[in-house]
Amino acid sequence: MHRKRLIWQLYPSQLLVVLAALLAFTWYGTSSIRSFQLSETAAGLEARAHLVAGSVLVYLGHDDLAGLEAYFREAGKKSTTRLTVIAPDGRVLADSDEDPARMENHNDRPEILAALSGKVVPSLRFSQTLQQNLMYVAIPLEERGKRRGVLRAAIPVTAMDKALAAIYQKNIWGGIAVALLAALVAWFIARRISNPLEQMKLGAERFSRGDFTVRMREEGAEELSTLARALNEMATQLDGRIQTIVSQHSQLQAVFASMVEGVITVDTEERIVEVNQSGAQLLNVDPEKIRGKSILLVIRNTHLQSFVKNALACASPMEGEFSSRMGADGQEKYFYAHGARLQDSQGRITGALIVINDVTKLRKLESIRRDFVANVSHELKTPITSIEGFAETLLDGALDEPESARRFVEIIGKQASRLHAIVEDLLALSRVEQEAKREEIVLQELPIAEVLQAAIHVCSLKAEKENMAISLVCAPTITAGINPALFEQAVVNLLDNAVKYSGKGSEIKVEVEKKAGEVLIRVCDNGVGIASQDISRIFERFYRVDKARSAKLGGTGLGLSIVKHIVQAHHGYVSVESSPGKGSIFTLHLPVAVEDGLPGNENVPDEGMVGD
Ligand code: ADP
Repeated sequence: MHRKRLIWQLYPSQLLVVLAALLAFTWYGTSSIRSFQLSETAAGLEARAHLVAGSVLVYLGHDDLAGLEAYFREAGKKSTTRLTVIAPDGRVLADSDEDPARMENHNDRPEILAALSGKVVPSLRFSQTLQQNLMYVAIPLEERGKRRGVLRAAIPVTAMDKALAAIYQKNIWGGIAVALLAALVAWFIARRISNPLEQMKLGAERFSRGDFTVRMREEGAEELSTLARALNEMATQLDGRIQTIVSQHSQLQAVFASMVEGVITVDTEERIVEVNQSGAQLLNVDPEKIRGKSILLVIRNTHLQSFVKNALACASPMEGEFSSRMGADGQEKYFYAHGARLQDSQGRITGALIVINDVTKLRKLESIRRDFVANVSHELKTPITSIEGFAETLLDGALDEPESARRFVEIIGKQASRLHAIVEDLLALSRVEQEAKREEIVLQELPIAEVLQAAIHVCSLKAEKENMAISLVCAPTITAGINPALFEQAVVNLLDNAVKYSGKGSEIKVEVEKKAGEVLIRVCDNGVGIASQDISRIFERFYRVDKARSAKLGGTGLGLSIVKHIVQAHHGYVSVESSPGKGSIFTLHLPVAVEDGLPGNENVPDEGMVGD
């Protein structure tokens, strides 16, 4: 609805009051002046009548009407007053301006009637005789208690009217001037009242739009300055509160966005209210697109859907686990979810909060650990069963057959060495893992040729037995950040494999090259090689391509796993190129030290490349 501005409500009413007051004052003033003038004129006329009354009675006493006439003409002329004597019966006896014979009976004139009854009542009316407005005042003429008639004095009021008209005119002009002045003053007063209110209105409008940069001027009338102060205080408080809310909100948003856990909030109708980045990634959805939509439509996982339903229905927090292939890679993932109902300050249920953790890695680790325990048990079981079996056979009488007894004891010894080798390798593996985890492995920038030479030396006896030669190509200047003992063990393991899986008389080469920020240590053989489907698995614990051959050669299936962990502890990685029947090349990639120390793990490729 269109409302009038305050100034247009204040100003016309103020102006109306001022104009009405002015009009009333002018009217009252002029009418007072007029009545004052009239009463003054009447009093003057009465005084003049009394002045000439004595002379009139003398003339009447002598019945000298002619003399009276002459006296009236003289006196009337001098005093510009019309004088008339009227007999008690209303006849005009003498008149200063007119012939009494021509004048009609005057007993109906109000001033005459009043005078005859002993009162003096002035009368203002139009004179038919003189054709103008006259004021009449009549007094009774009495001589020794005898009423002789009435003496009337009259004066034209034209002059008075003219004088009054001039006064009226001046009053009107004065009134107009005052009215204009009053209009101006009223306008300024109305502006003075409405302007600060107008300013406050504009300020309040800016406050309502959330702009608290302005403050109202605390000036003018007390009520207005108090109002301005109150509004300013309100704005300051609102500003503070809004800023607190905004900063709390952005803090919450930052926490919400940076949480590793996926967070989803739903309303009571199971519509998604909010989902954070991690949640969107876990569920492979676009947060912008799913907001406000039912979880049944946008997240196609029945476990999660029923979890949300239960979380909304259940008063106490709940937790559960489910798996899904919702991810972008389509791989099965495991999720652990917590759900709790959300309530507002009045205790009404507004929805539910679901926090989802990706526990895929944990579950995989658990399964790896389970598999490892099973594998270790299995690996240990074979030699132990064998030792047990042969020990029993010996006790059952084979001890008495020296030849068999010797053979069995040899087998027991072999199996014990195998057990020893497995335990040794397991210990070595766990040591490397633990130390790498605790960052206890000390790396030193050393020339690697010496360490390689030492490793070759360790394997040379075994190689010579197989009539193999191990050659080394390494510039003595090449250095790398290494832990000499661990690095030597890694190379020994590779050389040991090269010897084990190559035919008699074959050649094994160790080459070192510095290339693209890496030191590459290649162990090359021309042995049996590895099929491509096995390459990705040979670094797994206890994985062997040919189990029987490995066992026969004293392998534990842990050698390459140890190599992998040692190289990782050196911030590097290991790669393999191999083709069955042609040979294999195992390459250790070690990062070249930068000036301020050794680089981190950024060069280490995905673990999948080397398996576990
Ligand atoms: P193992 O003790 O059986 O040698 P490793 O972990 O050292 O265990 O090796 C795992 C498997 O990888 C071996 O059983 C073997 O089949 C294969 N392998 C390792 N090195 C070579 C190589 N130089 N040539 C061919 N096969 C190899």
